[in-house]
Amino acid sequence: FRGRKLIVHIIPFENRRQILVTHDITETERTDMMRRDFIANASHELRTPLTVILGFLEIAASEPLDADTRQAHLKLMVEQAYRMQHLIEDMLTLSRLESIDHPMRPERVDIGKMLDRVQRDAQALSAGKHEITLEIRGGDVMGSADELYSAFGNLAANAVRYTPAGGTVRLLWEDTASGVRLSVRDTGIGISPEHISRLTERFYRVDKSRSRETQGTGLGLAIVKHVLLRHNGTLTITSEPGQGSTFTVNLPKALSAAPQPAPALAAK
Ligand code: ADP
Repeated sequence: FRGRKLIVHIIPFENRRQILVTHDITETERTDMMRRDFIANASHELRTPLTVILGFLEIAASEPLDADTRQAHLKLMVEQAYRMQHLIEDMLTLSRLESIDHPMRPERVDIGKMLDRVQRDAQALSAGKHEITLEIRGGDVMGSADELYSAFGNLAANAVRYTPAGGTVRLLWEDTASGVRLSVRDTGIGISPEHISRLTERFYRVDKSRSRETQGTGLGLAIVKHVLLRHNGTLTITSEPGQGSTFTVNLPKALSAAPQPAPALAAK
């Protein structure tokens, strides 16, 4: 019981004997603590952009502004409002993924079409500053198309956001002995080893200011982790600071789509 938190009830029993009932509340306490941390972090993340918006609104309400200043303030307010919107969307996505009332209904995912979309989104985010390649060598997969799109999209977006202009991002989809695999490799800033195991925690960031600058909500990899849990998949991260990172998703064969049956031959 070392390191565990227990509630012990001693119940008198016949012949001066006693029954000892123990409740191990270590997990409950840990979950409670995580929930409290999440609420504190989320409130803080929402309060920051709201404070900026309120500040500009107060200025606008108290003094006449010339058209250029007004325009500049409006632009900043719109940016902050989008930041709040992204955060709320990511929080809703996470809570949906965790909800037991929201079971995953596997369908055949057209991986070529989906990864094309992921590549196009990444190109739009990069605005021509990176080379982004896609190679598809593996077959389709069974799973939730929306969830996998959100996970793969987050990994590709991170690769762009944490890679300086001029770098490359490579998306590779391939079959493996036990299923299928997506690797997202970038030539970006990399991550030092002590951070790697914590990256999928909600709101964990190596560098808060950089994450905000690049419109990060701090929830992207937590979403990836939950999508993969629901698909019995795994995420492996390898990285070298200053050289780049590779995020590899492995999905098991059980979820890979069986090859489509050949069309039946017409009866003679
Ligand atoms: P964020 O919105 O902050 O990017 P994520 O959950 O997506 O949140 O990622 C958590 C942290 O992991 C990021 O803040 C960043 O420090 C680090 N990270 C994620 N992807 C990469 C990457 N491809 N290269 C370097 N660091 C990364």
